Amino acid sequence: QRGKVGFIGLGTMGREMAINLLKAGHAVYAYDVRKDAIGDLLPHGASAAAHPADAAREADIVISMLPDTPQVEEIVYGENGLLASPPRGRLVVDMSTISPVAVRRMHADLKAAGVDFLDAPVSGGPVGAKNASLSIMTGGDADAFARAEPYFGAMGTTITHVGEAGAGQTVKLCNQLVCAINLQAICEALALGRASGVDLDQLRNVLLGGSAASWMLEKLGPAMIAGDPSAGFRIDLMLKDLRLVQEQALSLCVPLPATALVTSQYVEARAHGEGTNGNQALFRVYDRMTNQ
Ligand code: NAD
Repeated sequence: QRGKVGFIGLGTMGREMAINLLKAGHAVYAYDVRKDAIGDLLPHGASAAAHPADAAREADIVISMLPDTPQVEEIVYGENGLLASPPRGRLVVDMSTISPVAVRRMHADLKAAGVDFLDAPVSGGPVGAKNASLSIMTGGDADAFARAEPYFGAMGTTITHVGEAGAGQTVKLCNQLVCAINLQAICEALALGRASGVDLDQLRNVLLGGSAASWMLEKLGPAMIAGDPSAGFRIDLMLKDLRLVQEQALSLCVPLPATALVTSQYVEARAHGEGTNGNQALFRVYDRMTNQ
């Protein structure tokens, strides 16, 4: 099935996801506030859209991949937004990581306008986005999920309907707290190994072969050890996710002491100007604590 996709947000993740939709034979109407990001997609076969409503005009499905809640609210509620001019297929799927409370509100408001809304955040990073191997966790109505599935198939491999509106975001937030605390654990192991004079590449290889193996150690370990801060997933985006985790935990009275601790380390990293660095730069907090 070949469809027409309005795609909004062509950054680190969205660019690769839109290219994979094009490769699968779908038409893509691309929009981003950065004109160069739209221009970059045209040689891949996308059409340029002037604003969100323009991207939606002919679309069977509109997909957004934006930084945070306010940007998604802007493309839904704003001038030339999706609520004013719903997509032809009456299906909107936000794949960003945003507030589950905001998701439930948008789901209700779009539903009242006859438009289905799914929250479908992803895990797998820029490499997963490029290789179309993302894990996609979806909240919303089952029939809307069934309509979105062929498009998800062009972007990911593990595609799951996890519950009602907002449930996709809840599962993603659980994923993020595990990633952050795991990264903190890796920082501590590397800090101890370094101070003890152990070779860090060898330490990483040994851990990867045993019970301490993890995605973060495999993917981010080399950049941590090399001190390469270049971003795939930025510190400020993880800090946004940890804030969302804490908001949800507080509203439900769930104590998350380990999350609270690692969140303050992310705040510390940001205060030292590391917000636009990749998540491996959390190790710099440990550099400072050990005077490295
Ligand atoms: P990014 O900042 O690289 O890309 C966001 C894009 O949205 C940019 O191109 C920006 O110009 C555009 N944009 C911002 N406001 C806009 C608006 N109002 N209208 C249209 N376009 C607008 O971010 P990213 O790394 O691609 O992440 C996107 C989302 O996916 C975030 O919620 C992030 O938490 C989540 N995520 C990221 C990763 C990762 O590894 N980078 C992995 C999983 C999930």
